[in-house]
Amino acid sequence: MFQGDRPYLKSSIRRRSSAFFRRSVYCLAFFVVAGSLVFTYFTPGFSDQRQLTCSLPTGTLGNPHSDAAAAPLDNAVIQEEPGSAGASQEIADVAGPGDSLFSVLCANLIEETTARRIAADMASVVAESWDQGKDFNAYTQLKPEETRYTILTDHAGNFQKVTLEMDPAHVYHSVPRGNNTIHSWKEDVVVDFRVEAIAFKVQGTLAESVLNAGEGSMLATKLTNVFRWDIDFQSESRRGDVCKVLVQRRFADDRPLGYGDVLAAVYEGKKVEGGKKTAILFNGQYYDDRGVELKKDFLRSPLRVLRLTSKYGQRFHPVLGQMRHHDGVDYGAPTGTRVQSIARGVVTTAGWHGGYGNYVCVKHDSGIESRYGHLSRMFVKKGQRIQQCQCVGLVGQTGIATGPHLHFELLNGGKHDDPLSPKNKRKYRVELRQVASPLSARFDQVRKERLTSLASAAPPLSSPKGQGLASAR
Ligand SMILES: [Zn+2]
Repeated sequence: MFQGDRPYLKSSIRRRSSAFFRRSVYCLAFFVVAGSLVFTYFTPGFSDQRQLTCSLPTGTLGNPHSDAAAAPLDNAVIQEEPGSAGASQEIADVAGPGDSLFSVLCANLIEETTARRIAADMASVVAESWDQGKDFNAYTQLKPEETRYTILTDHAGNFQKVTLEMDPAHVYHSVPRGNNTIHSWKEDVVVDFRVEAIAFKVQGTLAESVLNAGEGSMLATKLTNVFRWDIDFQSESRRGDVCKVLVQRRFADDRPLGYGDVLAAVYEGKKVEGGKKTAILFNGQYYDDRGVELKKDFLRSPLRVLRLTSKYGQRFHPVLGQMRHHDGVDYGAPTGTRVQSIARGVVTTAGWHGGYGNYVCVKHDSGIESRYGHLSRMFVKKGQRIQQCQCVGLVGQTGIATGPHLHFELLNGGKHDDPLSPKNKRKYRVELRQVASPLSARFDQVRKERLTSLASAAPPLSSPKGQGLASAR
């Protein structure tokens, strides 16, 4: 309709639009631009601005070493030279749902064969240079709202340059070369880190609180991960809790590229056990401020194959013939089945113990104890230090038992607990590991540095959107 008659058009479109929508925009823009032309013509001071918005140096865009088209793109922008014969057009946009490299090129270039060739050539470069994109091809779905692209064509609609920005560190370009071939390459981007301390108060969910502090939702994911053994943010985070995070902020040529590692974090919460949890990254693991590893991994059960025959709680005792509290759970298993310690610890009992028969009791580092009864054989001695999964004995039916089974008990601070209770699942997935002693001096230093950086960060008194940052280096 108005093809070839668009003097210089600059319009913003957030998503790649349908041909109809685009045509409507051109149409609307034509009138806007025509109006502004008239205005410009009769307003002397505006002629300079016109030069600024329309300067697109066509000559340099075919140069593989010019990254002019890779600049950050705010919105879909279509720019053109004034209606001269050599005018070029630039379409800059973000991928929509379901878009692939081929589909966006096909939608914006005249020839499908050209679109296919560019897509294939560029995709091969992406596949070989991007860790997350090893299987990337022309038809791989691009991340909607994240992947940006710029397509530059000349007046006749021939492609001059295509730029694809998977993220700020992964920017690709394609230009035409002689003999109908395409040259594609990855832009050299310098990625670096800055460490920042961030503090915020919890209002709503953790994710909402992080967003309110002007941060990305990825930070909430990272925090949930760091504290996954200690804090259930669904049920244990409360309005007014305070979280401080020392995090690496990544940049690609000064453009933000999300977060690197969480180096340290402190969460103070009313519902959190002990009121406060600390995480310090050291040698690839998180430790609390006493140097105890946060990763906890109590085995869920001392047997590999489970057949629960009697639960924890009140029950009618099959041998004694009366109602009694069952202090543990029974697992039916053939005599001779291996019984493994659910965590590392010290054996406090290994011997005959009345109705329990052959009985092993292991004290774990965190005040938790596990007990194994009716064993046919025992392989550990009192006072022995044992590892997680170490075999303490074999299933049997010694003591008071109607058949071969393992009687298993779990105690916390001397009190019996139900090993199968869902609320205990998380609590007992605990095995405490300390920073190895040769490294403890180094850990102390790291801990001091990071906690000092965090101490200076304070949550804002009120947290207006996008300004909830308190930074310290
Ligand atoms: Zn039992």
